[in-house]
Amino acid sequence: MKILVINAGSSSLKYQLYDMTDESVLAKGLVERIGMDSSILTHKPTGKEEVTEVSDILEHTTAMRKVLEKLVDKTHGVLNSIDEIDAVGHRVVHGGEAFKSSALITGEVKSEIRRLFDLAPLHNPPSMMGISAAEANLPNVPHTVVFDTAFHQTMPEKAYLYAIPKVLYKKHKVRRYGFHGTSHAYVSKTAAEFLQRPIEDLKIITCHIGNGASLTAVKDGISVDTSMGMTPLEGLIMGTRSGDLDPAIVPYVMNKEELTMNEVNSMLNKHSGLLAISGSSSDMRDITDGWEAGKPNETLAFEMYEYRLRKYIGAYAAAMNGVDVIVFTAGVGENSAIVREAVCQNLTYLGVEIDKELNKVRSGDPRRISTPNSKVEVLVVPTNEELMIARDTLRIVQESKG
Ligand code: AMP
Repeated sequence: MKILVINAGSSSLKYQLYDMTDESVLAKGLVERIGMDSSILTHKPTGKEEVTEVSDILEHTTAMRKVLEKLVDKTHGVLNSIDEIDAVGHRVVHGGEAFKSSALITGEVKSEIRRLFDLAPLHNPPSMMGISAAEANLPNVPHTVVFDTAFHQTMPEKAYLYAIPKVLYKKHKVRRYGFHGTSHAYVSKTAAEFLQRPIEDLKIITCHIGNGASLTAVKDGISVDTSMGMTPLEGLIMGTRSGDLDPAIVPYVMNKEELTMNEVNSMLNKHSGLLAISGSSSDMRDITDGWEAGKPNETLAFEMYEYRLRKYIGAYAAAMNGVDVIVFTAGVGENSAIVREAVCQNLTYLGVEIDKELNKVRSGDPRRISTPNSKVEVLVVPTNEELMIARDTLRIVQESKG
């Protein structure tokens, strides 16, 4: 079965085509600048040259058509006909409380995703554009949807409710949802497989630290707490997001600086985090370079980042009454040996001991970086959200056929 995975943003459309007989990627690519002058389509067929094409692509349906043309192109294509595509899996950020798992797309499912626009105004509308575009171009195959929030729907009330008037939850669904769920699910499952232990017996802390970052406490294979909240702003210090702060700061700063709601939202999401503390960059490579060179702002940014991350690991070890496995993933987690070492050297009270040489090894495969003496397994597991979406799509399509 061949499955096309789609991840649509407001002006972009990412795709990967899988052959699920061996879970291999046949081709992947990206359309950028949709709706702007000079849209760019980058297409990479596996084992062949990457191609880039510049044209004016005004909306997602045309973008999708161009992608399909590339997939069947005589020179750069990987399919003889688009009829070879058996199903399409879509990534949608917010599934609210309605979606506790991935789903086959129906009219009712689309209405529910639209009802959730309020909770995810930046993310869900572009996803719907992606779904409409793909359905218009591939009307005869099943489409499925995989939500970033779904994995966290297992959290207990004590973890997902905020200590504010409950009417806000009842009327407006104000609660913790958590994000990066597809990644947390994938890396926790992969970690258990790597260790050859049943996931139901493990207490795992998954650290998805990329430009956006979140931690999840995975106990018995399910999410019991996660650091992002009603929106992806809560929790860790991120590239440009503040993470946790005293909520009273928001009205105080709005008043003092005469900021609007949009301006304060933009400040906390786009102009905070590593970028704000360092004053120079949101990229961890620049921060660690600056830290190594002894630059004071980058050093402070690095120390604050590591400190917040370590506090959350401690909190989730407390939440689960212990931890068996810590998993690092995403851009920083997979690539920054410096961040991993800094965090782990302050977790000795949990019995964490990493092998500094193993920690420096680069590989695209899951690997252990803890010593045989370590009481906690510390792993680096490259995330693969697209593969998880393709697997879920395969499962749903097979189940729907009975
Ligand atoms: P992601 O959001 O998962 O794609 O992660 C992107 C982020 O990963 C970048 O903004 C960088 O901060 C970080 N990153 C990527 N490569 C490295 C590296 N070699 N060392 C440290 N950080 C990295």
